[in-house]
Amino acid sequence: MQYRGDNLMSVKRTNRSAAMRILHRSGAMSRKRLAENMGLTPAAITKIVGEMIAEGLLSEGEMLQTGGAGRREILIDLNPDAGIALGVLINTGQVLLSAVRLDGQVLFSEEITIAPQADADRLLPHIVSRLTELTEQNRIDEEKIIGLGIAVRGICSADGELVVNSFGALQQENYPLRARLEKATGFHCVMANNVRALFAAEMFFSREEDGGSQFFLRCEYGIGAALSIEGKIWHGVTEQCAEIGHIPVIRRGGKPCSCGKSGCLETIASPGAIREDALAVLSPTETPNLWKIKEKKGREELSLSDIFSAAQNGDAAVGEIVDRAAEALASALKSVIYLVDPGRIVLYGRMFDEPYYLSRLIAEMQEGVDSGHAVEVKKSAWNQQLEKKAAGLVAVEEFFNQGGIR
Ligand SMILES: [Zn+2]
Repeated sequence: MQYRGDNLMSVKRTNRSAAMRILHRSGAMSRKRLAENMGLTPAAITKIVGEMIAEGLLSEGEMLQTGGAGRREILIDLNPDAGIALGVLINTGQVLLSAVRLDGQVLFSEEITIAPQADADRLLPHIVSRLTELTEQNRIDEEKIIGLGIAVRGICSADGELVVNSFGALQQENYPLRARLEKATGFHCVMANNVRALFAAEMFFSREEDGGSQFFLRCEYGIGAALSIEGKIWHGVTEQCAEIGHIPVIRRGGKPCSCGKSGCLETIASPGAIREDALAVLSPTETPNLWKIKEKKGREELSLSDIFSAAQNGDAAVGEIVDRAAEALASALKSVIYLVDPGRIVLYGRMFDEPYYLSRLIAEMQEGVDSGHAVEVKKSAWNQQLEKKAAGLVAVEEFFNQGGIR
């Protein structure tokens, strides 16, 4: 470990950053309470807050009546309009462009369909020009833009520069996406893995004082996850924490996976895999309920909801597929419980909005876990709502870390 000193600028950033985090987490408060929270003298707080008010980052608001003498204290708060972050989220076949305020409120978002294995060199100019158009159409003041957050599927390099492998979203490997977008837009860019960005957004909105140790599981295109230890997201030595979707579960004859292997958890337990497996057994005799729905809306339109409803109504073959998927996922999560002993497992993705599936999963999760574990398993309070916010919040987080100094 290398030990380094702090210069005055870094102390200033640290103090301003702490003030922003406390106000974001706890809401408006007096200078006095902020000083107590930060362990600084009232004089130091007055100086810090004064500067930040002058810059427009903080605002003075309501008066707070304190004490018997009727002394009044002014509350200070973060000004959510003080900055705007742009966001680019890249998944396989999809790019989501967005802009958020400092409190994560979405100012615009637009989904663009792209080809799988997209050529990044050709995709980038398209992203940049559309983002510029959206910024103009939504009358966003360029002066207010604090940066651009990038959230991308797959493995990013530890320094946040390269998309090492996006597992089918982009054609290129080891692509310097951050620097290319920074050069093309002129905005400061920060890049993160998409699941970690969603998890960071979840923590941003939950405003919990102590993030504790949590495991965030996201099932959408595939199965992704992220782990926090004492409030900090853990990356792992090769930036692959926590890719539980690629734990091998079928030893021989498993289906090919997007990662290049076969038989991964994702190939039997992801929403895509459940749908594929259910369609493979679709027949008027074996799966009469699902068949009836197919006759009405067409094979291509069969959704995960239709599959769960067919299983619930007695299609045994479909029920087996769903049970096998829930069992495999629960088994992986039980390993997490025993290995990490997290305080909470957060479930994120549309399949967790399906009561039938969720009850199967929770039942499997309880099987064989002793009562000594205090893990809370719950669906995200912002389920399916964080995609539009996550990429922009990557830049907002960086802005908070820098104490709002651009
Ligand atoms: Zn895999």
